[in-house]
Amino acid sequence: MQNYKNLETIAVQSGYDPQNGQSRVPPIVQSTTYAYDDAQAMADLFDLKAVGHFYTRLSNPTVEFLEKKMAALEGGIGAMGTASGQSATSAVVMTLCNAGDHIVSTGTVYGGTSNLLGHSFEKLGIKTTFVDQTASEDEIFAAVQPNTKMIFAESLSNPSVKVLDFEKFSNVAKRAGIPFVVDNTFPTPFLCRPIDFGANIVVHSTSKYSDGHACALGGMVIDAGNFDFASSDKFPSFNTPDPTYHGLVYTKTFGNAAFIVKARTHVMRDFGMMMSPMNAWLTNMNLETLPLRMERHSQNAEKLAQFFSQHPNVDWVNYPSLPTSADRDLAKKYLKACSGVMTFGPKGGRQGAEKVMNKLKLAKIVTHVADTRTCVLHPASTTHRQLSDDEQRATGILPELIRVSVGIEHIDDIIADFSQALS
Ligand SMILES: *Cc1c(COP(=O)(O)O)cnc(C)c1O
Repeated sequence: MQNYKNLETIAVQSGYDPQNGQSRVPPIVQSTTYAYDDAQAMADLFDLKAVGHFYTRLSNPTVEFLEKKMAALEGGIGAMGTASGQSATSAVVMTLCNAGDHIVSTGTVYGGTSNLLGHSFEKLGIKTTFVDQTASEDEIFAAVQPNTKMIFAESLSNPSVKVLDFEKFSNVAKRAGIPFVVDNTFPTPFLCRPIDFGANIVVHSTSKYSDGHACALGGMVIDAGNFDFASSDKFPSFNTPDPTYHGLVYTKTFGNAAFIVKARTHVMRDFGMMMSPMNAWLTNMNLETLPLRMERHSQNAEKLAQFFSQHPNVDWVNYPSLPTSADRDLAKKYLKACSGVMTFGPKGGRQGAEKVMNKLKLAKIVTHVADTRTCVLHPASTTHRQLSDDEQRATGILPELIRVSVGIEHIDDIIADFSQALS
């Protein structure tokens, strides 16, 4: 398979290379299992002595085409497809942490991630300390404990669209001697490549821009292959014999691919959060247009943000490239463009926001973000409705806050819809 440099070409060409007479489009291998002629061949696969597919809970050709493309897009050495973004993050935590371990995460992560780390893993004995991502390097480092096994952050946070200071977080991870894990769902590799800025592991909810059409759930774990597990004393399960594979030692057998192999052969094998071949096929197909879509999403969002910032019935707009944004310099440093999500506050508080939401026609009310169709969500009356106005403010959700995911329709039609709703 050829290695391409440019992301536009990788998005179209990488991951699948048809041989003479094979289908030009990657096939959907809708099969749980794979046939072999002799017993030893199958035994070698089970012992990880040979490479090949034998059961779709561990690997599948269609999922592998997508994994190879995502790894190439992010500049990683390997990737693993999962059933959803939530399971991608879960797989990373379960590969790196045991009961009694600890995680440092930014506080402004996706709500599902903050539940997963702050509640569900806490119940399993893995605790997370959430830090303010604008805190200084030393303040963030102070949250690291001897049992801390990873630092987690989002490159562009959902829904607050805060841009990550990669340098600061990667310095903390290096000082602590632990992997730096970045959720790159919102920018996608086309707008930001975390591995270029010090990330060791990248995760995605491919359900968002990677699929980009709101039709397939999925997640991805990408290994940069740049964390030295072999010389670390913090990850004994990477450096000591695994009894479930006849005493194999991951760092000895798989070198710098130890993490991604262990994630698959251990966590995926036992917890079974595999991406379905059909969803992998859809996501792979839709990734072909990722660069085109991300350009248009970003251009449209830029224009809509400017429209909001000049509108008399809008109190505030939050989009990283605006002159009023505190993250403008970080956005210039780390993002090719600022992607398609923003938040804004119409005048009139919660009632004002509800009025605007009800009048929108093109922009539908959905819980999803990051697909081709413009959509909105009002957290105060949906995802955060159980909280009082004061409690919502404390979690950063203002009563009037509307999250907009800007689609790839013509910008004039998008602005016309918000204009009539705000009038
Ligand atoms: C949606 C989302 C997730 C969770 O992904 P699912 O595919 O819905 O499980 C994780 N991180 C971010 C940033 C997200 O936007």
